[in-house]
Amino acid sequence: MVDSDSPTTPEAGTAPGRDFVRDIVQADLESGRVAAVVTRFPPEPNGYLHIGHAKSICLNFGIAQEFGGRCHLRFDDTNPVKEEQEFIDSIRQDVRWLGFDWGEHLYYASDYFETLYQWAGHLIRAGLAYVDDTPPEEMRAMRGTLTEAGSNSPQRDRGVADNLELFRRMRAGEFPNGACVLRAKIDMAAGNMNLRDPVLYRILHTAHPRTGTDWCIYPTYDYAHGQSDAIEAITHSICTLEFEDHRPLYDWFIAHLPVPARPRQYEFARLNITYTVLSKRILTTLVRDGHVSGWDDPRMPTLAGQRRRGVPAAALRAFVGRVGVARAASVVDLAMYEHAIREVLNVTAPRRMAVLRPLKLVIENWEEGRIESLEAVNSPENPAAGIRPVNFGREIHIERDDFMEHAPSRFHRLSPGREVRLRYAYFVTCRSVVKDAQGEVVELRCTYDPATRGGDAPDGRKVRGTLHWVAACDAVPAEIRAYNTLFARPDPGAGGDIMADLNPNSLEVLTGCLVEPALAALPVGEVVQFERQGYFCADPDSTPAALVFNRTVVLRDSWAKVQASTKD
Ligand code: ATP
Ligand code: MG
Repeated sequence: MVDSDSPTTPEAGTAPGRDFVRDIVQADLESGRVAAVVTRFPPEPNGYLHIGHAKSICLNFGIAQEFGGRCHLRFDDTNPVKEEQEFIDSIRQDVRWLGFDWGEHLYYASDYFETLYQWAGHLIRAGLAYVDDTPPEEMRAMRGTLTEAGSNSPQRDRGVADNLELFRRMRAGEFPNGACVLRAKIDMAAGNMNLRDPVLYRILHTAHPRTGTDWCIYPTYDYAHGQSDAIEAITHSICTLEFEDHRPLYDWFIAHLPVPARPRQYEFARLNITYTVLSKRILTTLVRDGHVSGWDDPRMPTLAGQRRRGVPAAALRAFVGRVGVARAASVVDLAMYEHAIREVLNVTAPRRMAVLRPLKLVIENWEEGRIESLEAVNSPENPAAGIRPVNFGREIHIERDDFMEHAPSRFHRLSPGREVRLRYAYFVTCRSVVKDAQGEVVELRCTYDPATRGGDAPDGRKVRGTLHWVAACDAVPAEIRAYNTLFARPDPGAGGDIMADLNPNSLEVLTGCLVEPALAALPVGEVVQFERQGYFCADPDSTPAALVFNRTVVLRDSWAKVQASTKD
């Protein structure tokens, strides 16, 4: 066996580690600042969830579980230009698949549009918001820079009554897109750019997936988010570090509005993985421009893609649990993710035999037409999984890579004159080869030793290699899709053009593969180990007449090696 994964339970590593967010929650509960913890996962439905979102989901739902609170699923659906029902549906499916349940706590920022509108009126009446029709470029120029203060809009001191009337007319649809915005009146000289009179509302004559054409003004993320948290009585609003500079604005709204609760925002570092892009904007481009077959292409880091590829939800949970939660940004090695996948599949995936690049092997001293049924072990990790019968006969197929005509001595597989074990079957010795007109080996002529049935020689003689195989009498043809990283460099985009970093070999389609007959009935969603190759699952494209398998991950484990070498 090549598999070096050590046996472990699938959920190993998901035990709630301590981290600064959990420490804060614990302290708040102990001090009585909050009676029960309420968190939320707030996706914008403008794309599919990816592995980075899994970290946020596991953190928010995980904390709620561990501390006996609850976690809401809230769609942050404030920009109808990019949001779609398809994304809402996929997000719900993906969160559930990951193993979390929001119960009755499913919310939409759009449910709060009326309240948010009323609260904007409250700010106007308090002299803390104004309508501004300065053209967008001018407004941008007046924001200043990190080193220079911005300048006040000439409309900043418009009276309350005028502002209320203009805001009402914005809502009534009297102005075209971009004609004006509602801004908070804070401080154009603030060191924090987010406090320089940020926009609360913009005009968008676009139908919304949920509110239809009821609205033509939509709140910005900054205005909607904290207020939605307050309406839902979220206690700990946990987000990624890019929102750290938005926190003063988050607190400003909470301080100046008649909100029913005072949530607090905490930031953690987002997940980054080598060779992987976790940005919905880029993932959207990959789908839109046809670089992948869709959001669920098994090369995509989306949860839908990873699920289709065969990655178990337990592996994702274990992985993000092990990565932990910190405030310092870092990049995690892709090998660590793959290790987590193997660790789960090593325990759960039954073993099967499949030959990816077949080479015919004929056993000359085996009678024509004789078929023998042998016993193959379903899972060395789990004896309860039992055994299955596999047929063996005169003609079988082995992996082309497992034969070498002129082999160095360190090659432990088959070559002329050498003996190897065929797994669960017999010892065979290669006697000669048959070549085609181009000189390529197309067939091996072998003999077997009848005394070695089951794979051991009664005289104690050893062989150095054990090969997997399929029997020609009942092997089934299949297509196998082998995936490599979608990007060719560990830091995609670092060279300036992220699309130039796409890996041209991210998908290898192998046709003419041969698999043992049991695999014809493998249900979509179940993962097996193809012995000595890796983990594979049936793709939804698979039909009984044309089997298609996805390679989830190979067996080789560079992460286990890294860990072993650092232990020495
Ligand atoms: P992207 O940057 O991919 O477009 P986003 O932050 O715009 O993602 P949202 O739908 O707004 O996507 O994200 C929902 C939640 O998931 C947010 O709280 C966000 O902070 C979190 N999140 C997004 N990406 C990551 C990541 N890589 N690691 C951890 N959390 C993330
Ligand atoms: Mg976002």
